[in-house]
Amino acid sequence: MQTHKLAQTTIGCLSCLDIRIFRTAFINMASVFLDTPIEYLKGIGTQRADILKKELFVFTFRDLIMHYPFRYVDRTKFQMVKDINEEMPYVQLRGMLESVVTLGEKRTARLVAKFKDNSGTVELVWFQGHRWMADKLNTNTEYIIFGRPTLFNRKYNIPHPEIELATPDNLKGKSAFQAVYHSTEKLKTKGFDSEGLRKLIKQLILQVTEKSIEENLSAELITDFKLLGKAEALKQIHLPESNSLMQKAEYRLKFEELFFVQLKLLRLHHINVKTVRGPVFNKVGNIFNEFYNKYLPFELTGAQKRVVKEIRADVGSGHQMNRLLQGDVGSGKTLVALLSMLLALDNNYQACLMAPTEILANQHLVTLTKFLDPLNVKVALLTGSSTKKERKEIAEQLENGTIKILIGTHALIEDHVKFLNLGFVVIDEQHRFGVAQRAKLRDKGKEPPHILIMTATPIPRTLAMTFYGDLDTSIIDEMPPGRKAIKTSHYMETQRLRVIGFIREQIVLGRQIYIVYPLIKESEKIDLQNLQQGYDNLVLDFPQPKYQISIVHGKLPAAQKDFEMQRFIKKETQIMVATTVIEVGVDIPNASVMIIESAERFGLSQLHQLRGRVGRGAEQSYCILLTSYKLGADSKTRMETMVRTNDGFEISEVDLKLRGPGDIDGTMQSGIMDLKIANLATDGQILQLARTAAQAILNEDPELISEKNKVLLNYFSTPGKTRPSWSKIA
Ligand code: ADP
Ligand code: MG
Repeated sequence: MQTHKLAQTTIGCLSCLDIRIFRTAFINMASVFLDTPIEYLKGIGTQRADILKKELFVFTFRDLIMHYPFRYVDRTKFQMVKDINEEMPYVQLRGMLESVVTLGEKRTARLVAKFKDNSGTVELVWFQGHRWMADKLNTNTEYIIFGRPTLFNRKYNIPHPEIELATPDNLKGKSAFQAVYHSTEKLKTKGFDSEGLRKLIKQLILQVTEKSIEENLSAELITDFKLLGKAEALKQIHLPESNSLMQKAEYRLKFEELFFVQLKLLRLHHINVKTVRGPVFNKVGNIFNEFYNKYLPFELTGAQKRVVKEIRADVGSGHQMNRLLQGDVGSGKTLVALLSMLLALDNNYQACLMAPTEILANQHLVTLTKFLDPLNVKVALLTGSSTKKERKEIAEQLENGTIKILIGTHALIEDHVKFLNLGFVVIDEQHRFGVAQRAKLRDKGKEPPHILIMTATPIPRTLAMTFYGDLDTSIIDEMPPGRKAIKTSHYMETQRLRVIGFIREQIVLGRQIYIVYPLIKESEKIDLQNLQQGYDNLVLDFPQPKYQISIVHGKLPAAQKDFEMQRFIKKETQIMVATTVIEVGVDIPNASVMIIESAERFGLSQLHQLRGRVGRGAEQSYCILLTSYKLGADSKTRMETMVRTNDGFEISEVDLKLRGPGDIDGTMQSGIMDLKIANLATDGQILQLARTAAQAILNEDPELISEKNKVLLNYFSTPGKTRPSWSKIA
């Protein structure tokens, strides 16, 4: 309230004051309105405020105004009872109640009203609040009802419809674009169904003036992109006057939202490049050259060469590299990582490589040790299962510089791990590695080490721009030569015998087989049982001693897991039954068949990842998706997509369309959920425009200090729930 007073006095003697003070006061006034606690809205007491806070995270006027509608309905039109069908998301009817009766008792108690128009009757049903409703409803009175028809016992009824008297006022007051809001069961019992929320938001919107909501985009942006003003956009999104205004409002708000995300990311990138110095690797020395010229077992692909060049340019530039390397499974990212690490070594720095699991860390150790064998480069492994003695030795050799390359899991970035001179960090298969973790790595070296994040999970462009918008990106879009495309087919559970026959054939040919089962936290127990059951059945089909089968899952102790993996790697077992622990990175070229059980339970990107475990050797590889007979539409699309293409980027785009951005990856979810109106699955074009605009502004005015861009700076200084929480993108 104090700020409010200040605003008044300031305005009161405007003539004698610097215009800038006025501006500050003005902003304060605007934010006073938006930051008003929700309990101060008329009709909201503490109790109702609490439920809004709990259910919708609405704490202030701002939060409520940003509870945008998710669609609109035309309330000027009425339907007839006889036309009701299942396809209709809602109907609006006009008619009389024939009867109103309460049926059932206690838990099953419900109020049933027979509603009649000229064409027929339909039942309206209330479960919650039925007593209260019973008192309000009268027969022989004309009503307008609005709700979603559902089929029950082959008859349509409308549960919990909105209902109001068909008075001239009510009939006239209908909008062709009435907003519909998301609500929750709890909210509905407190009168905040979509309609309740609509009334509340309408009341708030009617208080909005140009003064209470300040424009937060620059005049230039508004003109260039022909955007509605902020206050107008908010009005039109909630209470549209026409279809075109509603669309303009939506466009403006989406643009704004995406623009500020991009501005923030690009500014971060700019600050990084400008201010964060990195180690300078200015020479390509003996280690790199010797390896490259003498021991590299194959020619690099064009894409690998290009990426190595991109990295070399970065690490020689004097600023810290933050680069994302995307490349499908098997595209040869490890080699790029290795060459980059050798550059670090040549410039007297150490390097480390972090993998998401112990299995993978082990595998990297094996691969790199093999590559580096002739070079006399000390490589060590640090994971959760390293012994105390090993840790001590590693700690010493890290600090005195004996160890040149350290491989490990998350244990690597713990605070007590100290390097003599860490210059380069590779993070494999972890798109979870967010801004916060990267920041932590900065303190690891004397200068913040260069960071290369590698991922085989192709990310749709829109997501990459948002999640890695502050990173430079490289893409390996070319497979090493000689790879045969994996053949993928889809079989029903009922065709299992054929699959068993196929496995037998392949084993005779000397191949090894993966069989992967889903393992999901929520159903972990049953999933493990299924895995065990599958294994037991398999042993019947493939009896010992002729056949040997490994079984690996996350619940096994690390040592046993490793033992089983090793048996498979050494070809002592022909079949590996596993959960998704083998998902990422494991490289066993002789394993050429991937069978995925209950494939419908996996997401597309996971299926693609799993398939990437095969197709690494010279032999023709196969992927078999086993599913139940009955599949939903989405599952069918997933299977068809997998059978149709091996292209990870294409698959990721389908995935994004199917699931929507909120679900693409559990770990990404939190970040994306902060988008209130833009949708990364469908708003790619707006995103691209917004990013380009943000980039152009920063190129011209990196500090945003010019008069015209000053307004944009407010975004970075105003607290509030509207800010995406970057710490959550982890
Ligand atoms: P990913 O990108 O999935 O991490 P890897 O780095 O594990 O892929 O490489 C997959 C396989 O391809 C490895 O066996 C690796 O040795 C091999 N490979 C990498 N680059 C080439 C190349 N240029 N030519 C031939 N084989 C290569
Ligand atoms: Mg890899």
